[in-house]
Amino acid sequence: MIYLDYNATTPLSENVKNSIINSLDKFGNPSSLYSKGKESREAIFKARKSLSNLINANPSQIIFTSCATESNNSVISSSIESNKHSVKHIITTKIEHPAIIEALDYYKKNENIHVTYLECDNFGRISTNQLEQSLTQDTVLVSIMMANNEIGNIYPIKEICDIVHNYNPSIKVHTDATQAIGKIDIDVKHLGVDYLTMSGHKFYAPKGVGALFIKNANTFEPMMRGGHQENDLRAGTENILSIIAMGIAADELNEINNNDEIGKLRDYIECKILKHISNSKLLGDIDNRVCNTSCILFEGINGIKICELLNSFPEEEKICISSGSACNSISFQPSHVMKAMEINQIPIRISIGRYTTKNDLDIFFKSLLKTINLLKKDKENYYETRKSNY
Ligand code: PLP
Repeated sequence: MIYLDYNATTPLSENVKNSIINSLDKFGNPSSLYSKGKESREAIFKARKSLSNLINANPSQIIFTSCATESNNSVISSSIESNKHSVKHIITTKIEHPAIIEALDYYKKNENIHVTYLECDNFGRISTNQLEQSLTQDTVLVSIMMANNEIGNIYPIKEICDIVHNYNPSIKVHTDATQAIGKIDIDVKHLGVDYLTMSGHKFYAPKGVGALFIKNANTFEPMMRGGHQENDLRAGTENILSIIAMGIAADELNEINNNDEIGKLRDYIECKILKHISNSKLLGDIDNRVCNTSCILFEGINGIKICELLNSFPEEEKICISSGSACNSISFQPSHVMKAMEINQIPIRISIGRYTTKNDLDIFFKSLLKTINLLKKDKENYYETRKSNY
């Protein structure tokens, strides 16, 4: 089985696995005063430091959550709860993850909230002019992702922060960096963001653990209540094993940087596909993408069909890729990102990572050729039968 879906989730690294195994006996509640509790507390502090090193924050500015979805939801909830004046305006984009879009949809129904969704062009690029024009006296939050999960585009977060804070320094800027962590260097001080979301399972740590950078905790309203954990900002006994693992994964990102190699492998498979498979088209902002992602459309062929066939091969040729986002793979409809780019078809998303080899990509290419030929034949047969009906 060849795994090329690192944007959906990553495998655990060996160090991460070992850190979990070695911590199984750290069962003490981090809030307990005796030594077993202290041991857990210290392990969490170490992980917090590792996460803060990764993005140049202070450890006290990091809270652990259960996932990126929770981090994103918390930022939206806090922005609404902590602004008592009646009208609240939030700016986001049409291509955010559902963890932003659907949370806003919910609040829009229940509160006096206006949302502006910035448009994107056919390459998935947003316009900072539109952002500038959308800011109002009521704007409380601007939430724009750092890298898109489907097409890999990188968005200009520093420029966005400058525009927003020049207009009004009290407007918060949040960036969902779930797909950017480990792929591009992140320095929250340089960027000027107020909030930044991270998720463990996108960088070789387990699922079920995330983190949120909060620049200034004084203005943050917790979404989870009922305990004093995480400096009173997120109640609930900490997921200690996963937090330890996420810290180790962050340390590894600080130590290992094979993004150049990953980028070369991505370019290798991309070029091979575009050269040898007719009617294939690369989507996104080609010169401004994270190194591991490639979103490719095969004109007239549904990407979901390609993914299904690739997954039906014998184990040694079986390929795991997805058609854009994992959340969309059951709907058979182009994703909201494709729709925003005015693309009416479903592409495939190849997202590679630390353990991908050139040999994996060669096997993938062979299976992809076979799949495309099968589906093209299928299509021709389909038209032939229809023609004979007339
Ligand atoms: N934000 C982005 C950009 C993502 O790609 C994802 C997951 O794919 C999420 C948020 C949600 O992450 P989690 O599974 O940690 O909730």
